[in-house]
Amino acid sequence: MIDRTATAPLPDPSAARPRRALRGLLAVLAAAVLLAFAALPRIEAHYLERAGASDRATLRLATEVLRGALERTEALPALIAERPILVQLLREPENAGLVPFTNELLRQSALSLDVSDIYVMDLEGRTVATSNYRSEASFLGRNFAFRPYFTEALSEGVGRFHALGTTSNQRGYFFAAPVIAETERLGVVAVKITLDGYEETWANSESTIIVTDTSNVIFLSDRPDWHFRTLGPVPEPAIEAIAATRQYPLDALQPLQARRTPLGPDMERMTVTDAEGGAEDFVFQTALIAAPGWRVSILTPTAPAIAQAWTVLGLVLLLIVVSGLIAAVVVQRRAQLMERLARQHSQQAELEARVRDRTRDLDEANARLRGEVEERRAAEERLRRTQAELVQAGKLAALGQMSAALSHEFNQPLAAVKSYADNAATFLDRGRAAEARENVGRISAMADRMATISRHLRNFARRPQDKTGPVPLGAVIADALELMQPRLSKAGAEVRHLAPDPETWVLGGRVRLQQVIVNLLSNALDAMADNDVPRIEMALISEGGPEDGTCRLDVRDHGPGLSKDALAQAFDPFFTTKEPGQGLGLGLSISYNIVRDFDGRLSVLNHPEGGAVFSVTLRRSAAPAETQGGMAAE
Ligand code: ADP
Repeated sequence: MIDRTATAPLPDPSAARPRRALRGLLAVLAAAVLLAFAALPRIEAHYLERAGASDRATLRLATEVLRGALERTEALPALIAERPILVQLLREPENAGLVPFTNELLRQSALSLDVSDIYVMDLEGRTVATSNYRSEASFLGRNFAFRPYFTEALSEGVGRFHALGTTSNQRGYFFAAPVIAETERLGVVAVKITLDGYEETWANSESTIIVTDTSNVIFLSDRPDWHFRTLGPVPEPAIEAIAATRQYPLDALQPLQARRTPLGPDMERMTVTDAEGGAEDFVFQTALIAAPGWRVSILTPTAPAIAQAWTVLGLVLLLIVVSGLIAAVVVQRRAQLMERLARQHSQQAELEARVRDRTRDLDEANARLRGEVEERRAAEERLRRTQAELVQAGKLAALGQMSAALSHEFNQPLAAVKSYADNAATFLDRGRAAEARENVGRISAMADRMATISRHLRNFARRPQDKTGPVPLGAVIADALELMQPRLSKAGAEVRHLAPDPETWVLGGRVRLQQVIVNLLSNALDAMADNDVPRIEMALISEGGPEDGTCRLDVRDHGPGLSKDALAQAFDPFFTTKEPGQGLGLGLSISYNIVRDFDGRLSVLNHPEGGAVFSVTLRRSAAPAETQGGMAAE
């Protein structure tokens, strides 16, 4: 059988599968990472739009506050211009007494209206009264005819302008209206509000707010360095107008290096580069204040939104890596499980194959054994038949040997019977009845004796019923001796035997055991053919209890004993040292088998003082209740 051990290598596919699965997993992970990076711009855009949206309210508020301030102030100059004192002042420029009064009146008005300055100019543009008359930078006497609001007020009835104050150096918004007496224009009232205060509010937020005018000049911003920088091209006429109206200092009009890209609805992304090359990135949104044509823009720094986008990307990557690890562990576990299952499967298959092989071997062995048993049984059957034949042949041979002695045994009593009968007849003739009866009695005894011998012979010659059971050994020995009596007497032999008392019961068959003993006695006589007085000693030696012990019958003669060859072969069938016609060489072989059938033993040795000793060892048995003291027939 082929020895397939448990460490047999596993087939390739199961080993390659987990590697393939891991490679697939790696590919999926790589794709997921690439996708995540590809999605980064979108994530960024999302967070930028969100940042912009959250600042939209701030932008709206800043716009509304500015618009409110402008609208509130717009009506003021016309209202103030209606004051009669102003007409009077403008009509009577030489009336010096009016000026201080008007100045104070304007100062009070400016305070109560919460505006920066209120001042009155004559038709030449010269300031004749002003609310800031007390300050060092008083407008009194200053000429503002160059300012558009002055000319516009006179020509169109309303003037507005924003500029860096030439005197105050503050950025302000100017509204102006003409002072009219009936239909005559006498001068102009201007109201100025400063806008610097709003920038301070805006500075509180992270985002930057800028206000650009129609010339693209950044007029207001919470970043002072951006004041008067331009965002986009300034048209040539505008530059001239700025110079003429002294709106802004011309040298400050430097373009802001800004690059704008569209981002979402109403939103742009703007990158501002400074002179040193540093760049700032913003979300840029704009609202319009219609009246002055201002654009209010809020610039939300993109850094937090981009940081958020990267954080999200980082989380996604972490998630990918973690799920990749989990998947790898799962794949690994699964592979291990599959491998274990495959191994178990192959081991089981191997085991089953082995069991099948073994079972087949066993079946074959069983069949062989059955065949052998069958053969053996047939052989035994043949042997038993042969043995039975041989037993019978042996017995007949023994009978043949005994026949001479038997004929003598029968002839002698017959002759005696004849003479006793003759004598009895004579005695009767002579009327001697007592003697005649005595002779008849002798005749009867002789007949009994002959009947006994005849019965033994019949028993001996009969084919035995193969029954083994308790037999009385003493009685069997007595029977054998009786059967041998004619030959023993003829040879003049002496037999020493002590019958056991009480009877010894052994396991055997009565007739067959008797045949064994007869055979041993017969061989002893044959061996002592040359002895004057052949002597035979028979001894019974019991060992152990009646239930479990043994009993040995020794038959010793005083013949020459057995040669070395005879000792070795005495029990072999057809071994004989006797003359042809004298012996078949079967007696001992048959006896041996008979004793073995009784689960006993037949052995031989030479007695140290000469002669052979044959020993029959038999198993002892308790006497059967029903035949206690009686004879067991076979
Ligand atoms: P047979 O008597 O026909 O030869 P047996 O089987 O009875 O056959 O005996 C076999 C041989 O064993 C005998 O021929 C003889 O040589 C030897 N043998 C048997 N019994 C004795 C004995 N008592 N003494 C010496 N030799 C014996």
